[in-house]
Amino acid sequence: MTVAPNERVRRALVIGAGLAGLCAARVLADHVDEVLIVERDHLPVHPQPRNGTPQARHLHNLLLRGQHDFEVLFPGFGAELEAGGAVPTDLAHDMRFHSIWGWFPRYPSDLRSRLCSRLLVEHVIRERVRALPRVRWLEQQRVVELLGDARRVCGVRCERAGAAASERIDVEADLVVEASGRSTRLPRWLETLFGAPPLVTEVDPHMGYASRIYRMPHARPDWHLLLLRNPLPSTRSGGILPLEGGRWVATLVGFAGDHPPTSEAGFAAFARSLAVPDVANALDQAEPLSEPMGYRQTTNLWRHYEQLPRWPVGLAALGDAVCSLNPMYGQGMSVVAMEAVLLRKLLERHGATAVLGEELRRALAALLRTPWVMATSEDYRYAGTTGPKRSSALKLRHWMTDVIAHAAMLDTKVHYGWTRVVNLLDPPTALLRPTLLARTAVAHLRRARRRLRSPDR
Ligand SMILES: Cc1cc2nc3c(=O)[nH]c(=O)nc-3n(C[C@H](O)[C@H](O)[C@H](O)COP(=O)(O)OP(=O)(O)OC[C@H]3O[C@@H](n4cnc5c(N)ncnc54)[C@H](O)[C@@H]3O)c2cc1C
Repeated sequence: MTVAPNERVRRALVIGAGLAGLCAARVLADHVDEVLIVERDHLPVHPQPRNGTPQARHLHNLLLRGQHDFEVLFPGFGAELEAGGAVPTDLAHDMRFHSIWGWFPRYPSDLRSRLCSRLLVEHVIRERVRALPRVRWLEQQRVVELLGDARRVCGVRCERAGAAASERIDVEADLVVEASGRSTRLPRWLETLFGAPPLVTEVDPHMGYASRIYRMPHARPDWHLLLLRNPLPSTRSGGILPLEGGRWVATLVGFAGDHPPTSEAGFAAFARSLAVPDVANALDQAEPLSEPMGYRQTTNLWRHYEQLPRWPVGLAALGDAVCSLNPMYGQGMSVVAMEAVLLRKLLERHGATAVLGEELRRALAALLRTPWVMATSEDYRYAGTTGPKRSSALKLRHWMTDVIAHAAMLDTKVHYGWTRVVNLLDPPTALLRPTLLARTAVAHLRRARRRLRSPDR
């Protein structure tokens, strides 16, 4: 295929039909003649588990930013989630959240979310992409290599999942979008092309998940979403979230190698060890529908493609293949949605040219900074977290977060602002607005007065 860098892309090829691949296909389909999605799995027509996204069996909370941006990309997305059984939720009123600082308040708000499985989120988006006439699918084909050289990528080599290497096929494209998730081979492919891999920053909280699906016995509890984090230095957390079909997923989390067991007794004992008994009490009443399932690949990994001195024409990357975040803070799907909105802006500004990926890698670096800093700063609160040396800016961030979180426990307006920031709707600087700072100060005075009156608190 011979396309000069600024020539229009006719055929784009997307590696992976996860959320990032589907969203990339959605926005590219408005600008190119054909989008081909190459996926190693057979894709179900219902919201069903598949091997390529094992994380989908665990609690997935789509932050408000993701709810908003998926709606921008797929108008009617929220209504379709609800039609599929997602539970409409007021995040301030219907969530019971015991943070590392203590309980947050509950009050009616406009922080409207929908709770469901990741399987349903992906299903709704996949069906919308299936309806696009310019999108074609190549399923059960694993991409094993990029075609081209250090100057330009012009396609991929695939092999049928489980078949011999001799059954490999080459597929040409003007633009290859790598969206194969956390297990991406892009750093290795780039090393082959350039002789050196991209720089990777890793912050590893050595965290593990274990999850189990349940049916609750009788009427719903007075919450929709229950999240419990033990006060530091305890490394344990847990949560329960409703899924479509009257089921619930309970996920237990342990940092610093303190992983929740996947045996029935061990899972129950871990739930019982949380600082407040709400998760364990709810599970005692519930009927398990699955065995506990574990997951360990939770390290924060940022592959700094933006720092490579060279980048081939005809290549782009997004989603977990660029930056995989510790899932504890629920950012991954929302970051994918934000990246797709960004890709759409670039396409609208410059059209679909083969140098799109060059611009995208730089723009992504700016987009990723906030979620990365938010996730890794929280992870560094645990002594067992490994990664680049802790900075003095980190101490300041922890101090400021502590101050605002304590105020959020007492003042619903501060809590509202805080919730918008952790849901990626507003930047962290929104918490420094004078009105919120004043309320934060007043909340601390109230807290100090209460302490004076009853020193045990
Ligand atoms: C345990 C856990 C819990 C999480 N909880 C949350 C949460 O609460 N909220 C949230 O927003 N995010 C959460 N996340 C993160 C979220 O799942 C990911 O950020 C998001 O799915 C990333 O999408 P992606 O498309 O980049 O990758 P994926 O969804 O992983 O998709 C990658 C796709 O590429 C395919 N593929 C892989 N290799 C190849 C190949 N060589 N050839 C062809 N196809 C290939 C795979 O089969 C898959 O379909 C969680 C993650 C984990 C691990």
